[in-house]
Amino acid sequence: APEPLLDPARTYELDRQHVFHSWSAQAKITPMTVVSATGSHVWDGEGKRYLDFSSQLVYTNIGHQHPRVVQAVQEQAARLCTIAPQHANDARSEAARMIAEVTPGDLDKVFFTNGGADANEHAVRMARLHTGRYKVLTRYRSYHGGTDTAVNLTGDPRRWPNDYASSGVVHFFGPFLYRSRFHATTEQEECDRALEHLEETIRMEGPETIAAILLESIPGTAGIMIPPPGYLTGVRELCDRYGIVLIADEVMAGFGRSGRWFGVDHDGVVPDLLTFAKGVNSGYVPLGGVAISPRIAATFDERVYPGGLTYSGHPLATAAAVATLQVMQDEDVVGGAARLGEEIIGPRLRQILESHPSVGEVRGAGVFWALELVKDRQTREPLAPYGGTSEAMNRVVAECKANGLLPFANFNRIHVVPPCTTTAEEVHEGLDILDRALTLADDAIGS
Ligand code: PLP
Repeated sequence: APEPLLDPARTYELDRQHVFHSWSAQAKITPMTVVSATGSHVWDGEGKRYLDFSSQLVYTNIGHQHPRVVQAVQEQAARLCTIAPQHANDARSEAARMIAEVTPGDLDKVFFTNGGADANEHAVRMARLHTGRYKVLTRYRSYHGGTDTAVNLTGDPRRWPNDYASSGVVHFFGPFLYRSRFHATTEQEECDRALEHLEETIRMEGPETIAAILLESIPGTAGIMIPPPGYLTGVRELCDRYGIVLIADEVMAGFGRSGRWFGVDHDGVVPDLLTFAKGVNSGYVPLGGVAISPRIAATFDERVYPGGLTYSGHPLATAAAVATLQVMQDEDVVGGAARLGEEIIGPRLRQILESHPSVGEVRGAGVFWALELVKDRQTREPLAPYGGTSEAMNRVVAECKANGLLPFANFNRIHVVPPCTTTAEEVHEGLDILDRALTLADDAIGS
């Protein structure tokens, strides 16, 4: 690889002087300097190697520096770095065709954005204009992005400091049996009651005021709650009954993460709009978008769609998507993720559940798993409060890092979300480190 611009010490110094970081109190952070990465590993400024069980922010689905994607970006840069969105461009056309091919059902047009938040913003705008209605229903325990509308749609504490309650967003509870709002004891009860609650919410809000129901097919950062079979089908039916647009947020769950191309594929549901980002090109160049059904696309055949972005369908980003999707097809990346989940991660996490009293539940599919850490298995009291952290959680995470594993932690949960292309050996190695680190959580709860 070419020489770095700066040495690690200077990189860190300039970061602290000049870089303003996301979601942080700027004086309280000590960012890890990363100098290189390949496959499922990253190296810090001291040359220490880490196995990345977070896929960064759950987006490097094919791992770092895949040679075919790197080459495709280099070739596109040599050919044409950029061209404005009003022109037709080969990388953009081919990426749109390939995305239309893998997205479910009749979704066959793509509006490209720079990431996930703006994809959700545009999907909501399309739904509002298509229906002539304003409200949008979204789940508690969800994340839809950090821009104004997207953060209002969000159902987690990141919304609280940003919420001006002016967006027409109404939140409802989705199915989550382990912490059921519906006093359910089985998946079927949870499913039925969550759908009843959603229908009640629709009727109380007035169906003719609701443009869209927007939900993560599988909520990601909020806890990887795989919906019970039939839930998404039930939501689809409610949308059809009340003339509401169904928007599936596949930003984190999509492109192989759950062992299927998209989270909605587990229930065979076709949304009217599907938003994506992250895994579409493993984040090598920023890219997101909205896959659009013909019904909604037709609304804007004669009428102008009032929205756009300077970099919509940027050639470097879409060339990276074309190469990523080719790699995913050629290397059966989605099947590989499914097998890692079924053969290794699922069975081993169930063993971890049995041997650690601090683990209350494990759940997931593919390379998309959560461990729910608790103070007490009976009461299910979380090891860190909702929206917060705790000494015990910090110690588990620090122990993982000390032993060369980067985990993804949120409140009282540890997520196991490595790249889909992680080898079986690497997955075992990472789970060994996590298994040992969890004894610190057991100690903290006195077991
Ligand atoms: N939707 C979901 C489900 C996400 O997980 C995220 C990011 O984590 C977003 C939307 C926002 O994406 P971005 O950060 O690219 O704007």
